[in-house]
Amino acid sequence: MRAIRNWAGNISVRPRRYTEPRSVDELKEIIRSSEKLRVVGSGHSWSEAIVTDDTLVSLNNLREIIEVDAERKQITAQAGIELSEINRELDKRGLALKNLGSIATQSLAGAIATGTHGTGVDFQCLASQVASFKMLDADGREHSFNKTDDNFYAMLIGLGGFGVIYEMTLDVTDAFQLREISSGRDFDEAIDDLDRCLAENDHVKMWWLPPSKDVVLFAYNRTDDAANDSRFRQWFKDEFISVCVYRTLSLAGLLHREKFIPPINRFLTRQITKPLDRIERSYKVFNVPEPPPHRETEWAFDLADAKNLLREYKKLLASNGFTYNFIQEIRFSKGDDFWLSPAYRRDSIWLGMYNKDRRDWDKRLANFEAFARAHNGRPHWGKEFTIDARYLAAQYEKFDDFRRLLKSFDSSGKFRNNWLNTIFT
Ligand SMILES: Cc1cc2nc3c(=O)[nH]c(=O)nc-3n(C[C@H](O)[C@H](O)[C@H](O)COP(=O)(O)OP(=O)(O)OC[C@H]3O[C@@H](n4cnc5c(N)ncnc54)[C@H](O)[C@@H]3O)c2cc1C
Repeated sequence: MRAIRNWAGNISVRPRRYTEPRSVDELKEIIRSSEKLRVVGSGHSWSEAIVTDDTLVSLNNLREIIEVDAERKQITAQAGIELSEINRELDKRGLALKNLGSIATQSLAGAIATGTHGTGVDFQCLASQVASFKMLDADGREHSFNKTDDNFYAMLIGLGGFGVIYEMTLDVTDAFQLREISSGRDFDEAIDDLDRCLAENDHVKMWWLPPSKDVVLFAYNRTDDAANDSRFRQWFKDEFISVCVYRTLSLAGLLHREKFIPPINRFLTRQITKPLDRIERSYKVFNVPEPPPHRETEWAFDLADAKNLLREYKKLLASNGFTYNFIQEIRFSKGDDFWLSPAYRRDSIWLGMYNKDRRDWDKRLANFEAFARAHNGRPHWGKEFTIDARYLAAQYEKFDDFRRLLKSFDSSGKFRNNWLNTIFT
């Protein structure tokens, strides 16, 4: 069997059997006949979530839209569908997802299973848009869960540990436009002004290219005004600057990192901080051009401590001796009730560490993780983190309940891989 690699190329899986069932009945048979099994979505996670040497199942062929109920504002789809397909289908019918992350090429179930989030202090992770889901257990038996079940909150962000989710119903909303205003802002001033900025805007995020003094501050708000984005702007900023210039310069910086990357980052910051004011369909504003493969870790911290955290974060990345040839992203989300959500019952600020240059990655990660742990961060399950089961257990009120439920629901451990075993030792 050839190796299957994840999107970033840092994980390679050589399962004994790789399969893409064409029906739910076929999926049941595969589950029943496997000793060990993991599911892969679109392979966009950096963590070892999909690694197995036994059976790896993809729901690539289970990606139909089952129903769009315009009156109830719900869409039901098979779990292997890509989020982008949902966006297109909803848009045709005057509907939309309420919030999204920065890309939509993940599978529906895969994005939900790791707690994928977008940005907005009044917006929870994507799982909060799920009204109900259907899952097959280790014996291939069907289960349905909705928001009235405790297991809904336990198993939806389930890291692939409880079974194979094959169908989901999402609550959606009327299609809407977002006005995106972005411009450069001195990082320290942006921190001082954070409370006002979060209070006045639906969705806020920041991009930073260390050690630049400025960040790009993005604010998205709902508007009834018509879309006005120009094709030329999209090509120039989203393709020429964001893809061609950005990629070429960040590669050129590798020739002599310490010397070239700081001035390149300052030059790029000047390009991307030019003020922008545009109105577009929501999903086109939430999503950004697909970035080049890179390494990434991202953690959720207590929003109440955001200003202090941002000052420390800025100090850390600007002076820890490393250079960064990738944009560092800062986002926000509302607390939720999913047992293993990094934003479990805590409004959150998300801080990450991103780099295209893979050299020294382990040292960079250790450096960032020391900061994250000192501030009670909770790692994104789909991104990179060093597993420390004791630390994780202390961060999640429901960690032991989750572990017990994993053991009782999948008593044979069919869906366990080393990654889950190490987290839940
Ligand atoms: C370019 C890029 C941008 C990203 N942007 C964001 C962002 O804005 N916000 C954010 O929070 N994250 C973001 N991510 C992370 C990404 O959303 C998560 O890692 C997500 O889990 C990937 O979805 P996937 O379909 O590729 O799932 P995979 O990575 O293939 O799998 C993830 C997990 O889901 C499980 N799983 C998959 N399908 C099923 C199923 N049918 N039933 C049960 N379990 C299942 C797998 O077993 C695994 O544990 C980004 C990733 C990339 C590469």
